[in-house]
Amino acid sequence: MRFEELPTPCYVVDESLLEKNLKILSGVMERTGCRILLAQKAFSMYKMYPLIGKYLSGTASSGLYEAKLGYEEMGKENHCFSPAYREDEIDEIISLSDHIIFNSFSQLEMFGERVRAAGKSVGLRINPECSTQEGHEIYDPCARGSRFGVTIEQFRPELLEGVSGIHFHTLCEQDSDALARTLDAVEEKFGKWLSQMEWINFGGGHHITREGYNIELLEDCIRRFQEKYDLQVYLEPGEAIALNAGFLITTVLDKLENDIEIAILDTSASCHMPDVLEMPYRPPLIGSGEAGEKAYTYRLGGPTCLTGDVIGEYSFDKPLENGDRIVFGDMAIYSMVKNNTFNGMALPTIAVRDKSGDCHIVHKFNYLDFKERLS
Ligand SMILES: *Cc1c(COP(=O)(O)O)cnc(C)c1O
Repeated sequence: MRFEELPTPCYVVDESLLEKNLKILSGVMERTGCRILLAQKAFSMYKMYPLIGKYLSGTASSGLYEAKLGYEEMGKENHCFSPAYREDEIDEIISLSDHIIFNSFSQLEMFGERVRAAGKSVGLRINPECSTQEGHEIYDPCARGSRFGVTIEQFRPELLEGVSGIHFHTLCEQDSDALARTLDAVEEKFGKWLSQMEWINFGGGHHITREGYNIELLEDCIRRFQEKYDLQVYLEPGEAIALNAGFLITTVLDKLENDIEIAILDTSASCHMPDVLEMPYRPPLIGSGEAGEKAYTYRLGGPTCLTGDVIGEYSFDKPLENGDRIVFGDMAIYSMVKNNTFNGMALPTIAVRDKSGDCHIVHKFNYLDFKERLS
């Protein structure tokens, strides 16, 4: 099927663009010896796991369902971090995972021995209390009062026996200078315990596949820790894996005017791209400009009854017409994984564009995907 023939709304993940990212990431692995995992939170379209698994070392999960998905669909190294594990799930998580990472010493005391008895690796998440991002508290695990990771004040070195690795995750869409600063804080606070570890996990938030990212500095950081402390370094980016590798095709349903020109699309910000409202951010739209930049500016909104279901203002060379198809970019990550059916919205079809340019539908959804979650 051609791209132009896909039904809308439809997410399309492009195999070549995904593979381009994977090659950049596997280059870092080859040059440094680090291991890179897919953080499934950002992208769990498991149809692509065989391709991702060709390049990366495995998957990172945040609980039972993701651990199970990574195990079933990629079947490589599987690492799990959860803010708190449940008694009724931990044994299954242990059986599916290679590394189980605890967020506190109390969780470590509760479950650590079971992990070791199963021959799996125990990790501890630390909080280096080094904020490197401004303005987005909800994406800053080092923000005041954060629930993530053990701070140096709460650290209990007497309980480290049997702990094989240290994990931190403090970045969000950042370059390697922020990692370098974070590593300084990690060393300053926790350095004396690093040599007794086997591995360290630098978490995610590394925007490695973004144009202009400083890969050399990332590789210096990795090598420094591997050599100085004799550690296996892991990274678990989510965004970087499928950054700019997917699209969301949508159709203009109607146009109206209220001081400004408005177009109603068959896709919703709140249901199909909630990060537009939560992050918030403005998704790229192919062939468009900023408001006022091109001749015809529209506020693009969704078909739900939420007033704030607005994607943003975009301008075009020609007026939009009902039935026009427009294509948002960067719609692979944090999109499908966050979908919901609020207000009875249908879920977008999921498709793949293969290397020859051919498009294939992977999954179509229907009324029951809405109904079955509600009673
Ligand atoms: C969200 C998350 C990641 C992935 O973050 P990205 O910003 O998508 O790279 C990795 N590890 C942990 C623990 C996370 O919570």
